[in-house]
Amino acid sequence: MGKTSSKQKRYFTFMLVPHDESNIFSVRISHTILFVLGLVALGLIGSSSYVLTRHLDYQLTKRANVQLAEKNAFFAQELANTHEAFQRVAKMENELRAMLKMQSKNELIKYTGEGGPTMADQVNLMRTLNQKASLTQKEFNQSLTFLKRDAQERLDTYQEMKKYIATQRSVMASRPSSWPVRGWITSRFGMRQSPFQDGSMFHQGIDIANEEGTSVKAPADGVVTYSGWEGGYGKLAIIDHGYGISTRYGHLSRQLVNVGQRVRRGQVIAFLGSTGRSTAPHLHFEVRLNGIPADPLKYLKD
Ligand SMILES: [Zn+2]
Repeated sequence: MGKTSSKQKRYFTFMLVPHDESNIFSVRISHTILFVLGLVALGLIGSSSYVLTRHLDYQLTKRANVQLAEKNAFFAQELANTHEAFQRVAKMENELRAMLKMQSKNELIKYTGEGGPTMADQVNLMRTLNQKASLTQKEFNQSLTFLKRDAQERLDTYQEMKKYIATQRSVMASRPSSWPVRGWITSRFGMRQSPFQDGSMFHQGIDIANEEGTSVKAPADGVVTYSGWEGGYGKLAIIDHGYGISTRYGHLSRQLVNVGQRVRRGQVIAFLGSTGRSTAPHLHFEVRLNGIPADPLKYLKD
């Protein structure tokens, strides 16, 4: 393409010249028209590049949307799975409570006063999570609120169980179930003929006969509340086991513990003797529940 110019006439002549110089094609265009054509060309380039850019944006947004939808579906599924996991934990919790013979905490936990979502909301949400592939912002927020609440509830209930088990363990450790001394039971709990021929009387414990000096062991954990001489008991020791239970050891030859001392089940606390109102070496053993004598054989293991 060739170009000539004539500044005076303000015309451009475009010529197409083949190599053999036959059939020369020429066109004369005014300066104004060329200017207009230039503007049109610029406009076309500009608008087409705008359309191209928009199209590229659209493609990128479309791809981003697909990725977001995938992410949304993934999170919705994960939330549904987490809710299910919490439900399984809650079910196991109820089984544990049944094993521990604990009351269900369902009645104790009430959220109505907190102004938060209700149980009906949670049921609706679970339905939504299971049906919908994608969730709204509100549904996400609600789901997370439920999860946080569930987590706190599980934490509370496990702490309650831990406390309960610790208490149960303490109750078991405090129960006078081990024999304080082995031997022959020469007198049982209840009404009996007095060995001193002064009529019948209520025997507040059991008598276990053995040789003088035999070790007397604590039948459970506890704290010594008495260690001294007490009338007919002779040398007496008393252990408080908590939960209203205490035990008494009479006719001892010697105590090995002092008031205020903590003792463990199986710990030797005294030696068997025949002090006080006693005819032969034996241990007078009492179990008292809230101060009232109870049959020790109901506590001692066979
Ligand atoms: Zn006795």
